[in-house]
Amino acid sequence: MAPHVVFLPYSMMSHLTALVQIARLFAFHGLRVTIITTPHNALVFQSLVDKDRLVSGRSICIRTLKFPSNVLGLPEGIENLVSTPNVEIAGKVHYGVVNLLQKPLEQMIRQLNPNCIVSDMLFHWTVDLAEELHIPRFSFQPVSFFCQCVRHCLREYTPHNKVDSDSERFTIPGLLHEIKMKRSEIEDFLKEETYYGKMVKSVVDADLRSHGIIHNTCSLLEPGYAELYEKIRGRKGWHVGPLSLFINKLDDVKRSKEIHNSNFSVPNWKESDDCLSWLEDQDPNSVLFVCFGSSTRFSNDQLREITLALKEANCPFVLVVKEQQDHHDGNSNKEMLNKNGKCFIIKGWAPQVIILKHRAIGGFMTHCGWNSILEALTLGVPLITWPLFSEQFHNANLLEQLGLAIRVGADMWNSGFIVSCPVISREKIESAVKRLMCDSEDSRKIRANVKLMVERLNSASEEGGSSHSDLIALIEEIKRCAFNNST
Ligand code: UDP
Repeated sequence: MAPHVVFLPYSMMSHLTALVQIARLFAFHGLRVTIITTPHNALVFQSLVDKDRLVSGRSICIRTLKFPSNVLGLPEGIENLVSTPNVEIAGKVHYGVVNLLQKPLEQMIRQLNPNCIVSDMLFHWTVDLAEELHIPRFSFQPVSFFCQCVRHCLREYTPHNKVDSDSERFTIPGLLHEIKMKRSEIEDFLKEETYYGKMVKSVVDADLRSHGIIHNTCSLLEPGYAELYEKIRGRKGWHVGPLSLFINKLDDVKRSKEIHNSNFSVPNWKESDDCLSWLEDQDPNSVLFVCFGSSTRFSNDQLREITLALKEANCPFVLVVKEQQDHHDGNSNKEMLNKNGKCFIIKGWAPQVIILKHRAIGGFMTHCGWNSILEALTLGVPLITWPLFSEQFHNANLLEQLGLAIRVGADMWNSGFIVSCPVISREKIESAVKRLMCDSEDSRKIRANVKLMVERLNSASEEGGSSHSDLIALIEEIKRCAFNNST
């Protein structure tokens, strides 16, 4: 019988999307797959899994565990960071998923008696369980090699402790290129002891004891950094990105609704469809897509600067705004912009992949979440970088190093998705928008580099390409381990 692999995705859209994509690919390649999650997270990808099982006959299913909403004092249905309005609730969701669900998850995995565990890196405790069950554990890392290398070099050489101020630029030793940063751009946990820092340490320790690490990236995207990372960690990883390229082939996405589904649930179909009709009326490559990931909340002051800058730049745009604390101001921004007529505003969840795919889109202003970057690059869309939190400043540096983006000029790291750093002025935003969206030397160079990158990424996912080969080798490795354990 085919080996049985249990998947544990983390409750954040970017992590969840990628791990479920791997699960579906494993099932496509003949493994038996069970994804364990909570009921509301399951709804996000249930229809895809059902289709794989019922229509395509693959061995894939979902098992759910009740989320401990009452213990955490949360309303039913808040199980994913995407639906958390503030940092306190986000912390509770994280605690519920990683800590309170540990015992029930362990119990369910024991019952399922799988041949292998593929877990989000944040479930670091799965390494102990895998050791106890004598099965391999693979950790999934939804970040770039470059980011891991930068974090390592910052820890190792602490160049940020050798400057006089937060705004002084320094070079990071140990990397393959000259990368400069400011102390203000570095994550808190690299500068002081934090809860997250302790968690990262547990994650790294667990990764080192794991059978392997799976990465949603490829060496052609980050030349040299896969090798550097493997040298730092002292072990080989499995580079199977960008996963969306495999998934598109698997789903054979042709019609727009199917592409929506491939990128998971879209609550507001009417607004999404209206947006696509609006894009149909725009010139090719003329529209800027502005979206800052699944959870970023800007202050209304910052939103106003963004909207005024876009209006001044005279560039048509689609702007995605998550739920605001101050609804009145958010609405007045929308009304002001709607009068202009050259924009479309989506409140809530946008069908990002299908928007990026539209021929009218000529640029993407992004917070530099890793998934957003991969989606834009596979679809050939150049970027304007506006990093905000997490590892996004490192991703932005990588993009600039590769000549794939223009920066807005953000230089202050935020501790979470509620943006608290000083407002970036409309002049800076307008200037970046014009540099990318108007015909300029910079813009032409970036567009040519992005075109080359699309070819590279496609070649990695084709038969014989590096990501395709690693995916097949990974599946073979799991089969080999299962076979060895059974004999
Ligand atoms: N996304 C989307 N619609 C939105 C916001 C985000 O489809 O309105 C998707 C986006 O396509 C990507 C993911 O959510 O797949 C965001 O992941 P990323 O790593 O870019 O950022 P994060 O949300 O983790 O900050």
